[in-house]
Amino acid sequence: MTDDFSNKANTGSKQSILSSEGLPSEITSGILISGNGGRLEVSKRERSRIAVFQNGYVVVTPESRWSSEVKAILDRAGRAEIAIHEIMEADSKSILAIYERNSRNNNETASKLSGIERQRELRRIIADAARMNASDIHFYVFPSFSEIKVRIHGRLRRLSIHSTEEGKAIINAAFAVATDQGSETGSTSFLKGALTRVSGLLPPGVDLVRLQYSPTTGHCASLVMRIKYSNSKGEHDLKELGFLAKQVSDIGLMRKRTSGLYLLAGKVSSGKTTTLQRILNTMVREKNHEISIYSIEEPVELDINGAIHVGVYPKPHQTRSEAFIEAIKATLRSDPNVVVLGELRDRELAGYAIELALTGHALWTTVHAGSALGILDRLSDLGIEHWKLTEPSVVRGLIFQRLLGVLCPNCKIGLPQGCDEGRITDFLLKEITDLLDSHPGKIFIRGSGCGSCLHGLIGRTVVAETILPDLNLLQHYASNNRVQMREYWLSPVEKGGCGGKPILHNALIKVGKGICDINEVEEEIDLIQSYKSEYPYHASILAREWRNH
Ligand SMILES: [Zn+2]
Repeated sequence: MTDDFSNKANTGSKQSILSSEGLPSEITSGILISGNGGRLEVSKRERSRIAVFQNGYVVVTPESRWSSEVKAILDRAGRAEIAIHEIMEADSKSILAIYERNSRNNNETASKLSGIERQRELRRIIADAARMNASDIHFYVFPSFSEIKVRIHGRLRRLSIHSTEEGKAIINAAFAVATDQGSETGSTSFLKGALTRVSGLLPPGVDLVRLQYSPTTGHCASLVMRIKYSNSKGEHDLKELGFLAKQVSDIGLMRKRTSGLYLLAGKVSSGKTTTLQRILNTMVREKNHEISIYSIEEPVELDINGAIHVGVYPKPHQTRSEAFIEAIKATLRSDPNVVVLGELRDRELAGYAIELALTGHALWTTVHAGSALGILDRLSDLGIEHWKLTEPSVVRGLIFQRLLGVLCPNCKIGLPQGCDEGRITDFLLKEITDLLDSHPGKIFIRGSGCGSCLHGLIGRTVVAETILPDLNLLQHYASNNRVQMREYWLSPVEKGGCGGKPILHNALIKVGKGICDINEVEEEIDLIQSYKSEYPYHASILAREWRNH
């Protein structure tokens, strides 16, 4: 960050070096926000009377100091939360010179940061983010500055601030070396692409960086870069990701089957790719490398031992979906055992996926859904007929997951302290303590951070729901008996149900064990209140369950 962006300014103007406009240079070297495209852009006429800087300095002509025009601009600054530090007077020639110099500087910055220099900067940003184990990098370009943030353990934090021109230049540098460029929506302003090892921009340990650029409203453009790390050796264990023992065994059963449709759902950045990768790598190992796995995705994110990647290359006048279908057809000719499809994104693809499962192949893919049972609704939305969904050999595995922060053992704080500091309500303290039948001092929330963590977190853990759908469950679904389907899934096995455990229950187990923050569970999953009313049976066994895990 340069001083240009700080609000600190030397008020002892006596020692100041005067700029060509006769004004102290620490004022005029600040960022001009009343210029073209600035936060407080003023009209051309007003530019001969007033200049406003980000650091709170204002320069006006003596004759317009008390004019309604200037007053209106200062009011506007107040509304934009720009604190006015000092108002100085100068003649209109000097003020116009400020604007001229500003536009000259902008052009210079743009040309200075050319080619190689921009790429060097980009490589440094990616390396910094990778060192911090960030999952993605966000670039925001505003009219008066640009900002780079990184997502670490699910939370965004600022990495650096640049000028608007630099921000744009860095984004352009990324797309200059990106592969797989295309605009999915048909509009060229939404750009997608990927940085591969060939770009020379990736540090060791990073295999791919996926780019998604969107011009947003309000004069702010954004680029999100998702970082895909290399698959380290021995990262096979689902337990290590946070899956509970029952879930690991459910997924183990899914993995053993050689046909059927297996679907993973979750938000963006919920760790689906990592889960899928571990499941399939374990499968390859268990089957002694004797199965053929074909993965169809673009860009490649999954790193599966021995899998054959089928490229998706849309021809001119061909949609992405048509290109995917062509890739699936090509794959089927190779007689695969297992097919992995990046995402079931539309009706056509969903139709082919079902055909694959109906013809005795195993297909693993991801969909957008809000719960494990919700995946069935998503398949209906994608146009899959109910009779196909109720065929028990088709939909054989449903997984829904979220990621929650893992509390730092060194700085996490107990609920009584959290309550004193106003970070948790008395009400929630009592509710969760009763539910877990635990001592409030043994239930924790995030601390403010220490030397061994980041903002009180040391990593992330999966909380999930897994379902092995059986005929009964699917029939309830087909006859539109949602309530019965849900009841059947949630009822304990000894009462003839599936013994399903909702994600909220599984998250609360981790709260009981001091791994997760109750506040984050309420924020990310659901409120304790709904848990008690919607899952009375689970609420009644929670105290026993978390102690057994
Ligand atoms: Zn800590």
